[in-house]
Amino acid sequence: MKTPIPFYLEEILKRVRDNTDGEVADYIPELAEADPEKLGAAMCTTTGNVYSAGDDDVEFTIQSISKPFTYALALQELGLDRVREIVGMEPSGEAFNELSLNQEDHRPVNPMINAGAIAVTQLINGVDSEPEDRVECLRKFFSRLAGRELHIDNDTCASELDLSDRNLSLAHMLRNYDIIEDEAHDAVATYTQQCSIVVTVRDLAVMSATLSNGGRQPVTGEKILDADVCRLTLAVMSSAGMYDGAGRWMAEVGIPAKSGVSGGLIGLLPGQMGVATFSPRLNKEGNSVRGVDAFRMLSKDMGLHLMSTEERYGVAPIRNVEQDDNLTVFFLQGQLNFNAAETILHELADFDFDTSTVVLELSHVAGTHRIGRRMLKEGLRRIRESGFEIAVIDPNEILSNRTMSDGTEVPVGDHEDYQINGETIDIH
Ligand code: GLN
Repeated sequence: MKTPIPFYLEEILKRVRDNTDGEVADYIPELAEADPEKLGAAMCTTTGNVYSAGDDDVEFTIQSISKPFTYALALQELGLDRVREIVGMEPSGEAFNELSLNQEDHRPVNPMINAGAIAVTQLINGVDSEPEDRVECLRKFFSRLAGRELHIDNDTCASELDLSDRNLSLAHMLRNYDIIEDEAHDAVATYTQQCSIVVTVRDLAVMSATLSNGGRQPVTGEKILDADVCRLTLAVMSSAGMYDGAGRWMAEVGIPAKSGVSGGLIGLLPGQMGVATFSPRLNKEGNSVRGVDAFRMLSKDMGLHLMSTEERYGVAPIRNVEQDDNLTVFFLQGQLNFNAAETILHELADFDFDTSTVVLELSHVAGTHRIGRRMLKEGLRRIRESGFEIAVIDPNEILSNRTMSDGTEVPVGDHEDYQINGETIDIH
């Protein structure tokens, strides 16, 4: 059997291909020369499967799609408190290159607009870093995210720098208010080199999936960022990633996203996948026209809107309950987050135990959230308090530590220890 997902991506591209609205960015020759007909899409799941369609090997400069990744690296290196000293987390509702800083403290409003991104870039590799070391640190970081060595397009970078008065004026403003320490020229040169890193849609999908996957690169398996850093980055993307179109985007598409002036667009589904499209014609907000169309379709057809209230995430957390004269075993499964643990506790609270021992069997649990573990242990403690023996069968050490809120430990058993109607507990 061939998985239908690449065909589905092809289908989406076919449906958006005829839309020739918008213009290719023409402020520098390297971008103006892009073939406007190029069209590609890629998807990488957090389980590490990569699918692509169309022009999936065309290389283009990452441009503003670099911003969330650089923000993530700054958060990883320095923590939120330090990063927040120089950049806010509010949507600006303005164009990407607006000459704006917050009225009160003169910080850029968020890291997705140029003012914020230039400020954040200056934090990488330490404020005292030489510009070239900063750039190399960013290039290496982007390469680890992509799972291959990425390079900088020096021609695009040079042209961009020749025409960087607007970004230079932002850098001068930032320096004037002591937000950055580097010379304005160095700050813009660093930022522009970061924007000139060359990628394909497949690279972008994998890089995005790393953020969606709590910082573990799903193809190489390398743990690159903390999950908290990824959560913060996705949150800021969801409110500010699409610039002045961000509110409408969240309503219509509902996927944290970031666009770039060369025609790339990424969307990140937390815990699920990273998606990327490439098509160089842009709308007036600077977002790829066919990319926006493709994301609208993906969101609708595949039920990916993050705010969807119809979707039920995960599987029923109780797979099966078995009991005989002295044992009741709850076979649990899936991801035990708050929602799943609540369902289990609700079931346990209502259950009419007429056995002396209650066992939770966890071999089919895929993972737990901290709160899920705490709730399960609290449920067990309360069952014991009402006079039952308790135990867990936890061969994968899902509970990680077995200490309950009263300081005692949940007893563990293995399948041989427990029998239902004379049979060792059967797990399949
Ligand atoms: N290098 C571009 C700039 O800073 C990136 C802008 C973008 O992709 N929106 O102006």
